Amino acid sequence: MAREWQNEATDMIEEQIVGRDVKDTRVLAALASVPRHLFVPSEHASSAYVDRPLPIGSQQTISQPYMVAKMTELLAAEPGMRILEIGTGSGYQSAVLSALGLRVWSVERIASLAESARKRLGDMNFDVTVIFGDGRLGHAENAPYDRVIVTAATGRVEPEWDRQLVRGGVLVAPLNVTTGNQRLLTRENLEHGFRNTWHDYCKFVPILMGLDPESPSSS
Ligand code: SAH
Repeated sequence: MAREWQNEATDMIEEQIVGRDVKDTRVLAALASVPRHLFVPSEHASSAYVDRPLPIGSQQTISQPYMVAKMTELLAAEPGMRILEIGTGSGYQSAVLSALGLRVWSVERIASLAESARKRLGDMNFDVTVIFGDGRLGHAENAPYDRVIVTAATGRVEPEWDRQLVRGGVLVAPLNVTTGNQRLLTRENLEHGFRNTWHDYCKFVPILMGLDPESPSSS
């Protein structure tokens, strides 16, 4: 008989997350409450809790559990805050943020992924707004946000992300630093300007320009 998913999630948290350096108990509790196996294609469900990203179709991936945990901890968010995610993918990161008590808007450029994440999150009662769009522009309609998280590797911090972040807000993103190398960046919007701090090296799929050309434009 398959193990209960809660046991797999507990082991994942102990071995891959606490075993490294993520200690924030609220982040750990949020991760423990989200059934990651429901965010991966059924053929990968048995690997859902292993220490790696997994394919989710359209050449995209659900991030490695540790990366989701690390980025969530770096956000240092409080319940009730408004957060913008760039790169919905499977919707797993959005679900973890929602489980933390955040109000989540998430932008995805591939219509089929946006649609399936929206349905999946709705079926599980996660209160997340998924937007089909080019996340390089953020999502001005509901700005400003207390936090911005980018889950695709980007060459730069887009001007709209800075503009849509409240004073005192924090952005977390994987930045391309040198060829083939990416590093997590936290960027705080302080009174006298932005302050950047560099963290772990990482590996994300690249952010792409505009809407996916195969997506129906009216989705
Ligand atoms: N956070 C996701 C994983 C993200 S993978 C999860 O938890 O599953 C990166 C995602 O960013 C992919 O789905 C990709 O289509 C999306 N993406 C890439 N460029 C984008 C852009 N310009 N705007 C919005 N989404 C983008």
